[in-house]
Amino acid sequence: MSKQLLDPQGRHITYLRLSLTDRCNLRCFYCLPKGAKNFTPPNHWLSFDEIERLVSAFATLGVGRIRLTGGEPLVRPDVTRLIARLTAIPDIDELSLSTNASLLAHYAQSLKEAGISRINVSLDTLKAERFTEITGGGELQPVLDGLAAAKRFGLHPIKINMVAMKGINDDEFSDMVRYCDKNNFTLRLIETMPLGSSGQKASDHYMDLSAVRQQLGDEFNMVPGVMPGGGPARYLQAVDGGLKVGFITPISQHFCETCNRVRLSVDGVLYLCLGQEHSFDFKPLLRGGASDETLQAAIIKALELKPAQHDFNQQPGKIVRFMSRLGG
Ligand code: SAM
Repeated sequence: MSKQLLDPQGRHITYLRLSLTDRCNLRCFYCLPKGAKNFTPPNHWLSFDEIERLVSAFATLGVGRIRLTGGEPLVRPDVTRLIARLTAIPDIDELSLSTNASLLAHYAQSLKEAGISRINVSLDTLKAERFTEITGGGELQPVLDGLAAAKRFGLHPIKINMVAMKGINDDEFSDMVRYCDKNNFTLRLIETMPLGSSGQKASDHYMDLSAVRQQLGDEFNMVPGVMPGGGPARYLQAVDGGLKVGFITPISQHFCETCNRVRLSVDGVLYLCLGQEHSFDFKPLLRGGASDETLQAAIIKALELKPAQHDFNQQPGKIVRFMSRLGG
């Protein structure tokens, strides 16, 4: 089969985000609020064998970049055993991980040994009390320890993802730039997206990042830069070298025309867009004895469902699933 997965817009799909669980050990108010229920029951989770088969089918079709996410991927039992199996799949070019880093001190070495090449860490604040408020009871220190361990064991590059929220952490952008610069991490600021159905949402604190970009550019003497493999982030870079800050602006300046990714939930449903409901369920095929060829044909068919773009601006209340189901 050809190694080019194209969607109806002619976009080349090369990147799969794979959720290993919809559970998390934190309760960020905007992602997986306290009291959230209806987690996917374990008998619906794709098994390691099923994940490996499906990832192999994607890889055969040219989807060589995989990012493990969640929920919190490090709470999936035996996660490093799965990672070692995925790294061994031919045609996988890059296996990366998104994590809240609260368990990273324990896992950093085994992740590196199992073949994780790069990690993204979500960190919205460097203030301990504020961290506890945002995360519904989490502690900052294990996250900082996890980041230190990741550095020590050579996980590189490390990107810090900070959701920019008006009235929550908008006084901390400069401090976060300095912290990342000091530690050789790449900071990316992210606009909040209107996801989830009830209670306080990140979008209640939405801020357009254009002004922040201008202000940080002036303060740290940065100019527009490029970053290979930087995904949807648009970067500013210090004129004298190292420091880089990315801005991910799904709302104020969306980047759907360059979208190269699809997302698989822990129960085997492929979502074609974070901001739309178009999806295809692979579990019946996987559990019904489908051949590798049938799986590959189904992936090609599913790609036909990929919509041109999200409707976050036109219909902000449309997506009621929380980010914790698909992992960003
Ligand atoms: N637990 C892992 C982590 O913390 O990175 C992976 C999953 S988490 C759902 C992935 C990312 O989604 C986090 O950086 C989180 O801040 C972000 N996120 C969750 N809800 C969001 C929203 N409504 N808008 C923008 N980003 C959101």
